[in-house]
Amino acid sequence: MTIKLYNTLTRKLEEFKPLEAGKVGFYSCGPTVYHYTHLGNLRTFLHNDFLKRMFLANGYDVRHVMNITDVGHLTNDDDDSGEDKMEKGAARDNKSVWDIAKFYKGEFLRDFNDLNMIAPTVMPHATDYIAEQIELVQKLEKMGYTYEIPGDGIYYDTSKFAAYGALTGGTLSGNRAGARVGFNDAKRNPTDFALWKFSPTDAKRQMEWDSPWGVGFPGWHAECSAMSMKLLGDHFDIHTGGEDLSRVHHANEIAQSEPITGAPWVNTWLHYSFLLDKSGEKMAKSKGEFLGMDAVRNRGYDPMVYRYFVAMGHYQSQLAFSWETMDATAKSYANLVRRVSELLNSEKGQVDDTVYNKWRNEMIEAMSDNLKTASVLVLLQEFIKSSDINDATKLALVHVVDELLGLQFIDRATKLVALENESAPAEIVALAEKRAAAKANRDWATADALRAEIDAAGWTILDSKDGYKIVKKA
Ligand code: AMP
Ligand code: ZN
Repeated sequence: MTIKLYNTLTRKLEEFKPLEAGKVGFYSCGPTVYHYTHLGNLRTFLHNDFLKRMFLANGYDVRHVMNITDVGHLTNDDDDSGEDKMEKGAARDNKSVWDIAKFYKGEFLRDFNDLNMIAPTVMPHATDYIAEQIELVQKLEKMGYTYEIPGDGIYYDTSKFAAYGALTGGTLSGNRAGARVGFNDAKRNPTDFALWKFSPTDAKRQMEWDSPWGVGFPGWHAECSAMSMKLLGDHFDIHTGGEDLSRVHHANEIAQSEPITGAPWVNTWLHYSFLLDKSGEKMAKSKGEFLGMDAVRNRGYDPMVYRYFVAMGHYQSQLAFSWETMDATAKSYANLVRRVSELLNSEKGQVDDTVYNKWRNEMIEAMSDNLKTASVLVLLQEFIKSSDINDATKLALVHVVDELLGLQFIDRATKLVALENESAPAEIVALAEKRAAAKANRDWATADALRAEIDAAGWTILDSKDGYKIVKKA
């Protein structure tokens, strides 16, 4: 099937052509583990997961690398100044930098699994690739791309790289807007960036390494170039990240890599739009207050509701988060799970291959057409309501939706069926009988009180015209 993706580099929707037939290699900038991952970061990671599932459905062999940034980077990444994020996080939590990296990585993986994302093929840690980062800087040094700012670090001279900023259609001057003045006045060009930072002479950093230039730590951008080249080769298919990364981080990654690999280093660049908070601004860790999966779980939402919410949007459009939308999404999700549970309970019949293939292809086509996840959800609503499709075929198609969107409909519906088939213990049955008697006597107050008691014990009474059913609450 033809796959089309929007390539930031060419600013076009392009037909995807793999470097090697049947295979795709892609690199995603992963989380910086100095704090909890927020819903915006997770939106970005979910789009990676949709991308991966689309390739898998098209029969590709997928090699996905996503890094864990556990080296401290500076709060002003754009100009290599400010405080070290990891050291700042460690001071906030009163732990060592190594401990907070381990802790927040664990929390990130919990969210990642709860959201049913497929594990990357490799998840390298920046601290395990210091030698490769030093080697990268050495190569650039030999090629004449670097200079030293005494007492500060080794910098990349962006004026030596003619294609600098190509990703954002920018020129060197176009990128100046984001550059600040101050400590980095010593830079030759505002867009120059640190490849290696020296440790301060008057204080000991918790994370520092020896290098040919003295004790210090790598610049933020070095890790992604070094690790992706090592794990995916000098040329690979796709590089992804949130929309904030294209202007500086990815521009710098390209500048560091293409002198070594030749151009193009990466064929397709995908950038995902932001999740906005309730004030319409980018959700950001640096704001201090942000929403993560704990907020979702603590409010009683199934993590799949957030996944569904993200799937309803398109990666090229910003998405505003609100609990009201989450409530509406939770209702749609629960309705669908109930419908699927009815399919599981019904007489199944035989899958109609022709019908199945037609709908399956349509769904894969939607995904392959620039990841139209929301169109797959529209198709799901259509086929599930259709009176022309038998239940066995519908159920087989729900499996396809799960494959493509990872929404775990079959899993949740199976659990619902199991809950509903569980018989209530004798004391609940006795309460239900008492309630039925109270109802027969039109004693509504007693009936309501008994319903509340049953409810508090974790069971629900479903009344019908033939009587009632007692089901366990999900
Ligand atoms: P970080 O952990 O801050 O390095 O970010 C990890 C990923 O999340 C990067 O690809 C960012 O571009 C992305 N990201 C950060 N903030 C948002 C947001 N509000 N919405 C979507 N993606 C984001
Ligand atoms: Zn990166």
